[in-house]
Amino acid sequence: MRIVPKSNGLTAPYWEGARQGRLMVQHCRACGWMWHPPTPICNACQSSDIEWRESSGLGEVYSHTTVHHAAHVAMQGRTPYLVALVQLEEGPRIVANIQDCPMEEVRIGMKVEVTFEEISPGVILPQFRPRARPQ
Ligand code: ZN
Repeated sequence: MRIVPKSNGLTAPYWEGARQGRLMVQHCRACGWMWHPPTPICNACQSSDIEWRESSGLGEVYSHTTVHHAAHVAMQGRTPYLVALVQLEEGPRIVANIQDCPMEEVRIGMKVEVTFEEISPGVILPQFRPRARPQ
């Protein structure tokens, strides 16, 4: 059993982008701010003149923690697991798992790139992994 996120009017472009292998984040046309998770207005200037842009998918581990206690029944048997806060090059920070890397080797500042995990048929979750070639 896996917790599967549901798309709604606000987040649909994020999930549709993920299905296409694209990491989408919101961008404010009024002030240039980019952010995540999605909100109806700009977090910086409250403008509603916002759009979606594709992120490079490149970033670094801003922070991380290891979860030992399953806070939801769906996560029982999956602990311990690592949750990271990834800072994208464009500025937004995204909570994700780090794949293709032992938990013990994840470090703050580690260069990572987006990867896409199909967690349920048709539901693609953006995740991150160490960059193949550090940039
Ligand atoms: Zn703004």
